[in-house]
Amino acid sequence: MLSEFDLIKKYFVRARPVRAALGIGDDCALLAPSPGMQLAISSDMLVEGRHFLPGADPRKLGHKCLAVNLSDLAAMGAKPVAFTLALALPASDERWLEPFAQGLFELADQYDCELIGGDTTKGPLTINITVFGELAPGHALRRAAARPGDDVWISGTLGDARLALAGYWGEQRLSAADQEAAAVRMHEPQPRVALGMALASGEGAVEGATLARAALDISDGLVGDIAHILKASGVGATLDVDALPAGPVLARQPLALRREFTAAGGDDYELCFTAPRAHREAVLEAARRTGTPVTRVGTIDAAPGLRWTDAAGAPLALALAGFDHFSAG
Ligand code: ADP
Ligand code: MG
Repeated sequence: MLSEFDLIKKYFVRARPVRAALGIGDDCALLAPSPGMQLAISSDMLVEGRHFLPGADPRKLGHKCLAVNLSDLAAMGAKPVAFTLALALPASDERWLEPFAQGLFELADQYDCELIGGDTTKGPLTINITVFGELAPGHALRRAAARPGDDVWISGTLGDARLALAGYWGEQRLSAADQEAAAVRMHEPQPRVALGMALASGEGAVEGATLARAALDISDGLVGDIAHILKASGVGATLDVDALPAGPVLARQPLALRREFTAAGGDDYELCFTAPRAHREAVLEAARRTGTPVTRVGTIDAAPGLRWTDAAGAPLALALAGFDHFSAG
């Protein structure tokens, strides 16, 4: 069995030269942001039995634990730079560590995001990553920045991850092929880094420094998450539930389920953002440039609260709630 230090050396210290001023091996790593840039920092923790099932595929876990963190950088519009990894492991099991490191570094390399340190201890399987990104001052897409009249946009599609979970739980009966397709969204989310950076850039902006105003990534379901933007910005919104882009598997399910899982699914890791109406064309251009589909789903209003309509514009009373770890038992 590998010791703690052999394990770190074998799986987490890499041969390539480090770009951080000092990488793994000392008491701290040293990181110098590019001149004039701000650091964007975020942590996200995955706990076995809470965020993933016992026995989950370690390669996919390696991908997902970094992906959910990169998704936070994307939601701010920041460029990924580096991350730390704090790991509690029940045992130093190389059959787990090797695929985990593979999944992790495959995604890290895709975004040129460097592992610069961490902590390793024995304990119930818990993975905590802190990411560091960079951003020009004044370009962060903050939750408090939405304004009445802004369009509300969603990247990609929603609901397939939630549908996969319903399949695992036996709430929904899916064919094996559908279950597998939906499960990809649950286990291997793709952070919308390129889109987030484009929305935070000034390219195409005529009102303000950035293309989008407020943004966040949808992790606990759109209803719950958009409420954070509305509250922080002191505004409301009217959304067309039937405009919400459903994942390809969910798109073939009945209307009521489509509405529920697009509006209040979870584990989507898509961006929800607001942008001035005057930026409509520029937002679509940024979406094309970054190869990320976007859909306009509603408008920010001055009146507080979230209102829903159907495709015909008729008001709808939807009783949906976001996911909350402490009320979900
Ligand atoms: P300390 O006792 O000073 O906290 P450790 O002995 O825990 O340091 O770790 C030694 C070095 O290995 C440090 O540079 C730390 O950042 C790094 N490290 C520990 N665990 C990990 C990990 N899971 N991934 C990457 N680096 C790690
Ligand atoms: Mg330590």
